[in-house]
Amino acid sequence: MKLAIGHLYPELFNLYGDRGNVQCLLKRLQWRGIEAEVVPLPAGEKVDFARLDIVCWGGGSDRGQEMAAGHLRGIRDDFRAYVEDGGVVLAVCAAYQLLGNYYRTETKTIEGLGILDICTEWKPGRLVGNVVLESPCFSTPIVGFENHAGRTEIGDYTPFGKVLFGHGNTGNGDYEGIVYKNLIATYLHGPLLPKNPEVCDWLLERALKRRYGKEIVLEPLADVQEHRANRNIVERFTPSHTK
Ligand code: GLN
Repeated sequence: MKLAIGHLYPELFNLYGDRGNVQCLLKRLQWRGIEAEVVPLPAGEKVDFARLDIVCWGGGSDRGQEMAAGHLRGIRDDFRAYVEDGGVVLAVCAAYQLLGNYYRTETKTIEGLGILDICTEWKPGRLVGNVVLESPCFSTPIVGFENHAGRTEIGDYTPFGKVLFGHGNTGNGDYEGIVYKNLIATYLHGPLLPKNPEVCDWLLERALKRRYGKEIVLEPLADVQEHRANRNIVERFTPSHTK
């Protein structure tokens, strides 16, 4: 078995160490004896989505988003087909915004891919800080760090989680992110996956199932450091939630 992890526009989208998500996906496969390769997907080059099992796309500045917008037009149809076919995607912050119709900043409107029917509006006052979520898909609370000026209304989409601590999609502290098919879009940096191994394995199991056509349950890992890191944030910011 072997999986290919595509890292979309790595030179423009790597805020707060989001590259760590790619490393985490890679390592958690290798630790289980499953082969994996990272495929860098630089802006401006053609993307062969058929070759990819996971697309990892990180956060970026408004300027980076603007620079990417023109290139995104060229991959929009293939990217949409990949997502609709159950292709696995992790999109963080700027990437989450660009999966939608547009991100309107203070001065301009940056066109998105329109793969998700959502819109993001810039508002004064950045939403910054630690976040703790609870999600019906995961038994462990999800932890991360947000830093965004954009506010995203998600309509009827399923959120990634309910906010126990932090700001979330719109700043009113109700919900965070979106889960759509095998795509997770979220504002959470951290990077997200090393502190939330359950989320990482959720992505990996879906990618393996899609590639090999059968349910593959990954063998559990000890995850001592990972759980400690997660628990530390949960205990610090949502002590009442700690059992
Ligand atoms: N530039 C976007 C915003 O401020 C996204 C920032 C990010 O990726 N952290 O809303």
